[in-house]
Amino acid sequence: MNDFSSEHFATKAIHGGQHSDPATHAFATPIYQTATYVFDDVSQPAAIFNGEVEGYTYTRAMNPTSHTLDAKVSLLEGAEDSVTSASGMGIISSTMFTLLNAGDHLLTSDTLYSGSAVLFHNLERFGIEVSYIDVSDNAEIEKNFKPNTKVIYIETPANPTLKLTDIEFCAKLAHSGDALLVVDGTFAPPPIQYPLELGADLVLHSTTKFMSGHGDALGGVVSGSAELIERIRKVGVKFISGSPASPFNAFLTLRGLKTLPLRMKQHCENAMALATYLENHPYVKKVYYPGLESHPQHALAKKQMHDNMYGGVLSFELNDTVEGIDGYEACKLLMNNLKIISIGVSLGETDSLVEHAASMTHSQVSKEERIAAGISDTQIRFAVGCEDIRDLIADFEQAFAIIKSKSN
Ligand SMILES: *Cc1c(COP(=O)(O)O)cnc(C)c1O
Repeated sequence: MNDFSSEHFATKAIHGGQHSDPATHAFATPIYQTATYVFDDVSQPAAIFNGEVEGYTYTRAMNPTSHTLDAKVSLLEGAEDSVTSASGMGIISSTMFTLLNAGDHLLTSDTLYSGSAVLFHNLERFGIEVSYIDVSDNAEIEKNFKPNTKVIYIETPANPTLKLTDIEFCAKLAHSGDALLVVDGTFAPPPIQYPLELGADLVLHSTTKFMSGHGDALGGVVSGSAELIERIRKVGVKFISGSPASPFNAFLTLRGLKTLPLRMKQHCENAMALATYLENHPYVKKVYYPGLESHPQHALAKKQMHDNMYGGVLSFELNDTVEGIDGYEACKLLMNNLKIISIGVSLGETDSLVEHAASMTHSQVSKEERIAAGISDTQIRFAVGCEDIRDLIADFEQAFAIIKSKSN
């Protein structure tokens, strides 16, 4: 049987990891909606529980639908193995609680997905030391790397500042000491970015976003060496967080992954066109998007993100006053008057979403931390969908016209 490991990306996304159902020859991967599995005799489960043979015992340990998803993601990431979880936070907590012990130091970003920031602040309760620093600055990372640093944890591009971190640099630094590099690649899934190729030990994603792609299934996945993934699967996901992927969500994510390359192409093309449109708009102060030449790390983006694809998320700030209206009020007017584009958290869906970071996704982060991380009160994050670009631009045009009509 072809294992699809040598095929090109789109072919792997469609066929990889899948096989027709051995019992029925059903072509699509069935949803094995079961909690438990039964055995022909008593010796069978003993061998599985001892780890002598692979097999299914209980869905918290492994399930055929989610195991197929593990295999497909491994092929897409170029990883030896992967394990899925019920959510992005499920896989992040499973991973961190598996890797870290009291007394260890975690070196991470001051601009994290807010759920990860809350988790890491809680790790401090267990005697883990955490530093939150500007990981877009290599000198800063090197300065804060310590003998007891066991994990460097980064998001690139970061949320919602779209700052980048040099993956290769972090991997070399981690391995010069006793640390592992973990990359949250949610904002730039393959085929855009391959952190493992650049030396990262683990790459993880909230599959809720681009990987499943339709905003209808929570999920998370981590990929890396067979040895590390085995520890996260058998201890982290199974016992510590107890958060395996549900068979139904694994099915939806498998389905979504088949169109990942098609969707990413459209997300990225639309995002680039909108970033350019907004950058040239007189009401807009600044646009943050790694694909723009004005992005301070555009050279790094070209190096570690592939095929001129820079992801489907951008953020922007309006001017301090727009047509005599205070910038924050203008933000609200703009967001409230968009018709196709909805107000909502999340990203990576076929449907475009805007959100106001300060009052929505980053409302759990203190104002000082938020401002220090470069997230202002007038920052809007735009998760660009796959709609026709002409309609997205027209939606902004009509909303900007409403702001103009309110000026005095
Ligand atoms: C959404 C998100 C997460 C958390 O994922 P859930 O599936 O919502 O639990 C983690 N990291 C990033 C960058 C995200 O965008």
